Amino acid sequence: MLKTKLEEFKEKIKSSGLKITPQRVAVYKEIAQSSDHPCAEELYERLKDKIEGISLTTVYRTLASLEKAGLVKRVPTLKDKIRYDAKVEPHSHFVCVNCGKIVDLDYVPPTPEEVKELGDSLTCTLMCYGICKECQVDE
Ligand SMILES: [Zn+2]
Ligand SMILES: [Zn+2]
Repeated sequence: MLKTKLEEFKEKIKSSGLKITPQRVAVYKEIAQSSDHPCAEELYERLKDKIEGISLTTVYRTLASLEKAGLVKRVPTLKDKIRYDAKVEPHSHFVCVNCGKIVDLDYVPPTPEEVKELGDSLTCTLMCYGICKECQVDE
């Protein structure tokens, strides 16, 4: 039987050892279903009308527990905002230097084992920087 996306998200949260809360499901679902790697503020903007009683603090707290459970990862960016990724397997990113949007690339970055002489607790991602198509049209 085909599972719905929502059930899939709930199962992932449960199997990571977290309790299922409407906020966790909503934040995780939003990150997993958007391709732009949203930051906490963007998540809050998108969810505030859908989830009753959600605040920016709730979003931050939810992100922290999802990250700790290994369900989401931070994406290193040039800008100060922390962006989140629900795709936790190794992949690369295209970053628009104008709007800050981050798009997944399937190109596989080096593994932490391959570069372990450079440092500890490594997360490897390759970043391609440029101006995205939408930003080119706007100018
Ligand atoms: Zn752009
Ligand atoms: Zn990604």
